[in-house]
Amino acid sequence: MAAAPVLVWLRNDLRLSDNPALHAAAATGRPIVPFYILDDATPGKWRLGGAGRWWLHHSLHSLSRRLTRRGVALTLRRGEAVAVVSELIEETGASALYCNRACEPWARCDEHCLGALDIELHRFAGGLLFDPEHMRTVSGTPFRVFTPFSKACLAAPPPDPPLPAPKSMVAPARVPPGDTLTGWGLLPVRPDWSGGLRAAWRPGEPQAQGRVAAVANTVVSDYLGGRERPGRAGTSRLSPHLHFGEVTPRQCWHAVQAGIAADPAAAPGGQAFLRQLLWREFSAHLLIHVPTLPERPFRPRFAAMRYPGSKAMLGRWQRGRTGIPIVDAGMRELWHTGWMHNRVRMIAASLLVKNMRVDWRLGAAWFWDTLVDADLANNSASWQWVAGSGADAAPYFRIFSPVLQGRRYDPDGAYVRRWVPELTRLAASHIHAPWQAPAAVLAAAGVTLGATYPRPCVDLGETRRRALADYRALSGSGPSADGPKTDRPRRMA
Ligand code: FAD
Repeated sequence: MAAAPVLVWLRNDLRLSDNPALHAAAATGRPIVPFYILDDATPGKWRLGGAGRWWLHHSLHSLSRRLTRRGVALTLRRGEAVAVVSELIEETGASALYCNRACEPWARCDEHCLGALDIELHRFAGGLLFDPEHMRTVSGTPFRVFTPFSKACLAAPPPDPPLPAPKSMVAPARVPPGDTLTGWGLLPVRPDWSGGLRAAWRPGEPQAQGRVAAVANTVVSDYLGGRERPGRAGTSRLSPHLHFGEVTPRQCWHAVQAGIAADPAAAPGGQAFLRQLLWREFSAHLLIHVPTLPERPFRPRFAAMRYPGSKAMLGRWQRGRTGIPIVDAGMRELWHTGWMHNRVRMIAASLLVKNMRVDWRLGAAWFWDTLVDADLANNSASWQWVAGSGADAAPYFRIFSPVLQGRRYDPDGAYVRRWVPELTRLAASHIHAPWQAPAAVLAAAGVTLGATYPRPCVDLGETRRRALADYRALSGSGPSADGPKTDRPRRMA
């Protein structure tokens, strides 16, 4: 009699290498049935957004081909995850189910429900560097502040070396029937807005692994100088690959450590890059310990904060028509490519929440739909950080000035020129605040405010003062004497 197969549930771990669940399942020597479930019901409002669906299509396509080449088929099913898993157990007579742990609240609930099914369940730590249950403060509570968290991570034994792809996988005598990928309709058709995404990205494990090698060899050497410049390709652009699990943080970790060992001059950049991976780790640990993070302020007193900003304001921000060039550039980059530079994400989010006074959850929802790297942990933690309500959040008196931020991080205006072509002919000295430029300068650059390019949607000074007053009232204490003078960010820097 043929051995009962084992099931491998792939979620945001769309890779063959360093995949503990797949590796362990293959090592049993039994036939394996890898499957992916498209579940639009269980996550509720956090069902995969438009840009994420585009990425998922291509990532699954790539994974499926790679599995097929190794003799194993990927089964696609659609529906409520736990019900679909139950059906698959019944249909295949599988004896065991393998999966990697996830950090989204609904995914953790699913894992909990699997415990009630009549099957051996094997769960693995797949997508994080450190075990969230073990990474605790000396008093045994989860970390709420990044710096001690990162110190504890760096003092802990380093993450295990990555696993290779399984050497061999046995196919079952009968592959359970599944959906076709094209039948899921993950790609936009009417209209097809994905041209910019296609030009910017190559989803899939081979491309992700190639990117990691490039990061370890070259990107980190310029990371310190280049990572804060949205006009340069100074960051790794690994975020969507990491989100969909085409690469693991420990693959990145070890590749970068090896790069540093080979070239000690790359150490400062390499360490700065590893620190960003720890921000990802911190956000994931937070979400695991505080599953309400996407919905409710981490600091409860922020529940009283009012957000009178209008829908029209939100619409201008979404369309990149705020009249604030660095923000419009970022929002257009996002719309076009599904990605935005981290510095600009902070500036754009700050304008929405603190100057336009629109609820951070509406901004987070827009990012969720439009980012190819939309990630519940990173997105929620970062929006709460900007809104001041998060763990280790920006002090309330740090309100970004988009003009100063633009001048500092896009000094020659290259980034704004790329995404806001209406302003191309403005000199760097005026490009971040065209409303302050003399009329003759605007005319010479072909800019008519209110016609060729919008006037600013808010008075930055006045809205900053109002926000400060509201935040001060909420916090119940004033800033320190030198606090409000700078808009320099304290973290994510
Ligand atoms: P690199 O600078 O090369 O960093 C390497 C990796 O570290 C990234 O791929 C990412 O996984 C992680 N990382 C870097 N910065 C952060 C950070 N501040 N917080 C957590 N992880 C970080 N990141 C997402 O992956 N998904 C999101 O949905 C998301 N939403 C955000 C929303 C806002 C308002 C802000 C301010 C930031 C958000 N970020 C999000 C964090 C950050 O902007 C992106 O991770 C980063 O821009 C990705 O580009 P990169 O891969 O080139 O980063």
